Amino acid sequence: RAKKDGPGKVVVFEPAMHAEALARLTLTADLKQALASDQFRLMYQPLIRLGSGRATGVEALIRWNRPGFGQVPPAGFLPLAEENGMIADIGRWVLRAAGEQAARWRRTIPELTLNVNVSGRQLTDPRFASDVEQTLADCGLPAAAVTLELTESVLMADPRTAVACLSDLRDLGVGLAIDDFGTGYSSLSYLQRLPVDELKIDRAFISRAEPTAADLAVIRTVVELARTLKLRTVVEGVETEEQHVAMRELGCDYGQGYHLCRPIEPQNVPAAFVGPLTT
Ligand code: C2E
Ligand code: MG
Ligand code: MG
Ligand code: MG
Repeated sequence: RAKKDGPGKVVVFEPAMHAEALARLTLTADLKQALASDQFRLMYQPLIRLGSGRATGVEALIRWNRPGFGQVPPAGFLPLAEENGMIADIGRWVLRAAGEQAARWRRTIPELTLNVNVSGRQLTDPRFASDVEQTLADCGLPAAAVTLELTESVLMADPRTAVACLSDLRDLGVGLAIDDFGTGYSSLSYLQRLPVDELKIDRAFISRAEPTAADLAVIRTVVELARTLKLRTVVEGVETEEQHVAMRELGCDYGQGYHLCRPIEPQNVPAAFVGPLTT
């Protein structure tokens, strides 16, 4: 960190700061190359209907094959991309790539639906809804087959703008989900006004090997709330059979998690739609 020992003193950069700043500059430069060099890939994690055990759709999850670094998870580059605005182009790439892929899958699996994560910067772009419309049309993917996932923090940062953006998207016919639900602080009154279709209950609520009575009570409350508001529920982070059974019994509609199915390569997706998962 820069040292300031008082007015007029020289600012000294410590070596650690130099290394950090340099790493960040290289990361930024590399990230700028990534799209043009085709270094992004999508993994897909199935959403499982808890009643039947069948996969009904997939969520696209971005990965970056950064030369010299291997596969970088989203947490390693999306925050930077959001800061410097690169997320707009990356987000457009994700929707197009996932949309084309889902349209291909739907020729043999017509019921397959697609979930795509959207960042706050994308949502507030005034052209976002028309971009989405154009992209889905290009892919030949019906809007009803697509659900866009937004985090609670994004929606709550500016609820008025969020409602306006979501309404435009809703008019296109795409589904809207609140991702990581329960980690932010949505006011219930806004939740009622947001034109959303799906609540994805954050994995923090079932992260314990054996969810406590209090954890289960929270999830039960969210499921009841969702039912009242006519929203689908998806529980994230199902890692054990006990959690799977508990969530099914609580009446969650869908589950996602390592126990149900990990994020998989696109070539393995069709197999995940053959019959109920035997877990
Ligand atoms: P998310 O949308 O909540 O996605 C779920 C994350 O949890 C994924 O991590 C997934 O691999 C992981 N996960 C799934 N099942 C389990 C489980 O049972 N246990 C645990 N511990 N984790 C599980 P991933 O792929 O690293 O993505 C992290 C976040 O990055 C996503 O969270 C999403 O917010 C963001 N993200 C991913 N792809 C995109 C994208 O294309 N665009 C945008 N804007 N954000 C993305
Ligand atoms: Mg998500
Ligand atoms: Mg999530
Ligand atoms: Mg999450």
